[in-house]
Amino acid sequence: MNRVTLSAYAKLNLTLDILRKRPDGYHDVQMVMQSVSLHDDVTVALTDGAEIACRCGDIPGDESNLAVKAARAFFDAAGVAPCGLDIEIVKRIPAQAGMAGGSTDGAAVLRALRALLAPELTDAELLRIGADVGSDVPYCVRGGTALAEGRGERLTFLPQAPCLYTVLCKPDFAISTPMLFSRVRLDALSNRPDTAGMLAALQAGDAVGVLARVRNVFEDVLPESCGEVFAIKSRLLALGAEAAAMTGSGPTVFGLFRDEAAARAAYEALSAEYRQTDLAQFV
Ligand code: ATP
Repeated sequence: MNRVTLSAYAKLNLTLDILRKRPDGYHDVQMVMQSVSLHDDVTVALTDGAEIACRCGDIPGDESNLAVKAARAFFDAAGVAPCGLDIEIVKRIPAQAGMAGGSTDGAAVLRALRALLAPELTDAELLRIGADVGSDVPYCVRGGTALAEGRGERLTFLPQAPCLYTVLCKPDFAISTPMLFSRVRLDALSNRPDTAGMLAALQAGDAVGVLARVRNVFEDVLPESCGEVFAIKSRLLALGAEAAAMTGSGPTVFGLFRDEAAARAAYEALSAEYRQTDLAQFV
């Protein structure tokens, strides 16, 4: 086998809380992450020579691409002789959206290289290599439902969440993650996520309990220029979503539905208004 194609799933934050600022300048966060069926297709082929070529739609396939960074990290850490690679990514996950679009491609490259070159590598070893590529990469290696702590790299994998449908809608602007962190005043954050309650609801397979606890504290520090986030959230709730929130540092907003037909109807209404709207389900 010298070629493999894998699905690289997007993620949502069912919760996002910021606990403290650390002496190293980073923040400790606590996030419940969930992968969804919206995905990129990542094909990795082994080639002669030493070049790592990467095509990634409109996104540069150079050394800044997390797929290329992941390949280099794999060869540095896995004890495998480097070889040439041809990486082709069919992008469907919107970029700069809070859905880990780059990290999931990097994680898919790690999984592909394990399958092609080092099937003996354990998940734990692959997660460790992923941590050198980016803080969301280890989560994306396994996906599913997980609690992420520390900078996001400390993971506890959880029972798979009840299957919910989601409408994802990204307005046409990007939000800088460092800018959002700089607006956080920890003592002023109110209405923090009930992370313990979310974990209990997940353990119990309680969909209503999960829906009741969806919450992202970054929504409280958005600048006025991001008002469209709240407009989309209100639209989703008016269209029947049982919960709605921004994912990660945004700007994508997701609505959650237990009923597939209700999700599809909301998707159809919203996709007429917003170019980057997707319908997906938990995976
Ligand atoms: P997160 O949810 O992890 O904060 P995000 O969805 O906000 O991520 P990404 O789509 O992962 O953001 O991309 C952020 C930046 O990473 C972009 O500016 C993009 O140029 C760069 N990038 C590097 N590799 C990729 C990739 N394979 N796909 C998308 N973006 C990539």
